[in-house]
Amino acid sequence: MTERHVLILGGTAEARQLAAELAARTPSPRVTSSLAGRVSQPALPHGSVRVGGFGGAAGLAAWLRAEQVSAVVDATHPFADGISANAARAAAETGVPLLLLRRPGWRPVDGDRWIPVSSLVDAAAALPELGRRIFLTTGRKELAPFAGPDRLPALDRLWFLARSVDAPEPPLPPNLEVLLDRGPFTLDGELELLRRHRVDVLVTKDSGGAATAPKLAAARELGLPVVLVRRPPAPPGVPQAADLAAALAWCAAAR
Ligand code: NAP
Repeated sequence: MTERHVLILGGTAEARQLAAELAARTPSPRVTSSLAGRVSQPALPHGSVRVGGFGGAAGLAAWLRAEQVSAVVDATHPFADGISANAARAAAETGVPLLLLRRPGWRPVDGDRWIPVSSLVDAAAALPELGRRIFLTTGRKELAPFAGPDRLPALDRLWFLARSVDAPEPPLPPNLEVLLDRGPFTLDGELELLRRHRVDVLVTKDSGGAATAPKLAAARELGLPVVLVRRPPAPPGVPQAADLAAALAWCAAAR
């Protein structure tokens, strides 16, 4: 019997946990984790790792065939919709079973002042009415709506604190302070940060998960509005797991 080979499309904590859990099984399948290569010093998963794009859905399909992959778990970030669409197409083309492991989005609780928006462009448009000192936690490649040539002129009067793992890429807002940091974060740390920088508004994508949720609790405690960018839709027809246990059960059943 040929060895089972699970490909984990990664870049998230869940992907790393899944790689470690599968390696600990008896018998353990061959596991390859795939990273896009965006972060300079990524947290590496257990086991084999490949880095870089596959060359679209066709490239991924060719890779699945060449490496005799028996199952794919798309454990990429909820906003990484390009690779998720490619995975759905490649799985349909090759017949390799595909699971989407996607942590649930955040849910508001009493005291939250969330302003849901559909895109970062809509988030930028909402800001001038909401405050002057903005905390951006949207990712280092996502500053164009706040700083690019098509930005609203009113945005140039705002001050931005941008937190990301690696330095953000231009275009950058004129009044910008960069904070290089990687979660998990704590409520005390987030409260201290928001107070020290006298932040008026938090902007975040609805990434979900516990590691970066303390910023939401801190904003709630300080009564600050949160501009929350909604997730892109998941690819249709792909089965989903909301947590590691469900993903492990799917992997065990996918033979
Ligand atoms: P994306 O827009 O969905 O993907 C763009 C292209 O990057 C894909 O078409 C693919 O290139 C390549 N790619 C993406 N993820 C890959 C992976 N795991 N392995 C191999 N190639 C991959 O993705 P993104 O938003 O730039 O995110 C890139 C990675 O960072 C993802 O793996 C994601 O989990 C992680 N991440 C993203 C965010 C976010 O907010 N978007 C936040 C935290 C972590 P080819 O077409 O050439 O195959």
